Amino acid sequence: MVADKLAKIFNEVQQEIAEIIDERIPISKWKDWNWQMKHAVKDIKTLEKLLGIKYTDEQKSELAKTLEKFPMSITPYYLSLIDSDDFLNDPIYLQSVPLSSELIMDAEDMRDPLHEDSDSPVPTITHRYPDRVLFQISNICSMYCRFCTRKRKVGDSDYIPIRGIIKDGINYIRKTPAIRDVLLSGGDPLMLSDDYLDWILTELESIPHVEVIRIGTRMPVVLPYRITDDLVKMLKKHKNVWINTHFNHPKEITTSSKEALAKLADNGFPLGNQSVLLSGINDCPKIMKSLLHKLVANRVRPYYLYQCDLSEGLSHFRTPVGKGMEIIESLIGHTSGFAVPRYVIDAPGGGGKIPVMPQYLISWSTNKVILRNYEGVITTYKEPDSYEPVYCDRNCDKCELQLSLEDGDEAPAIGIAELLADQEDKISLIPEGNKRLDRRDD
Ligand SMILES: *Cc1c(COP(=O)(O)O)cnc(C)c1O
Ligand code: SF4
Repeated sequence: MVADKLAKIFNEVQQEIAEIIDERIPISKWKDWNWQMKHAVKDIKTLEKLLGIKYTDEQKSELAKTLEKFPMSITPYYLSLIDSDDFLNDPIYLQSVPLSSELIMDAEDMRDPLHEDSDSPVPTITHRYPDRVLFQISNICSMYCRFCTRKRKVGDSDYIPIRGIIKDGINYIRKTPAIRDVLLSGGDPLMLSDDYLDWILTELESIPHVEVIRIGTRMPVVLPYRITDDLVKMLKKHKNVWINTHFNHPKEITTSSKEALAKLADNGFPLGNQSVLLSGINDCPKIMKSLLHKLVANRVRPYYLYQCDLSEGLSHFRTPVGKGMEIIESLIGHTSGFAVPRYVIDAPGGGGKIPVMPQYLISWSTNKVILRNYEGVITTYKEPDSYEPVYCDRNCDKCELQLSLEDGDEAPAIGIAELLADQEDKISLIPEGNKRLDRRDD
């Protein structure tokens, strides 16, 4: 009876893994994120046991050496997605289990290629762009991605900053009116307890110039049970929260991750996704298209596709930029516009994200541009013969364009909208000269 019920809720692999960890595991435990965290796989022996595989001695010693430098943590849920019959080619395995290639340093590898530490006015903040900051409120994740750009930090001093340190970040934001958008990142911000996160969100919301708060989290991918009803209820108290997640492969879209996404979307959170282009994992137009289609089908808007950074130990994951171009070329025009992410290279040295996209404007003259479309059709767009540029000396008070920074006045309801509006008592619209009404007047 219990076994029947288990089989319905987990798939067989999940059930097997759950039973190896604890043979009397009740159904509710598997879906308890704290249970998942407690049983996150951090050593080689448990990994072998749960996957039902045996490493050679050589593999084992290489793994052990890599683990000394970069930690491993894999939630039982994420591990259950690995195909153990072909694990060395499995996209989940490759994202979560270290390879000795992580110890290879290329000449161009850098500890902090994005100079996040140098653009940091206080320890938790990276202030790179004029109006928004990255606020690293956690240094830990439930699963350590092998390709993590913040490998230097994440997991190495396993901690969530104490209130005093977070407070320094909040104070920096408070005294910097230019900041209107705060990106909570880490590590994974959803590693914090609901109460701690609630406190941070409340503090940020009390700052008048903070208009938008984004939460960047991989939880829907690696630990979807973290998206609890209580968490959603707490987040819902706060306005203007966007959630950005990080799916890299269609295999990561499961019943559980779909449920987590639906919970967030049903409660009104705008959802975005960023992916990293990874050699041997998703560097294929078909895989990428399948991922993007699954994301939009689950109300997640693809946001960025990142070229893999020059962080240490990532050389085996990097692809040429041309691979990304080829993927974007296979998407634009071929599928829904909102399914196409922006392909970016995060500039080494801290220059920020730079979009790299295929060229569509192929030539131009003084009155015409030549374009090509996704099918290879070459076409022209005729520009206006005369164009009076608006004179601009940056004296906006004298400008003839209406540059009003106030919200627009809402136009009074007219037409069908007037009929629909509750404040009007009009019940019909009648064309002038209506014959039937003319007869009535007699
Ligand atoms: C990515 C990033 C942002 C946000 O950039 P958007 O293009 O607005 O998403 C802000 N600060 C830092 C340091 C970043 O890396
Ligand atoms: S979830 Fe993000 S911060 Fe954490 S290991 Fe993965 S890429 Fe790094």
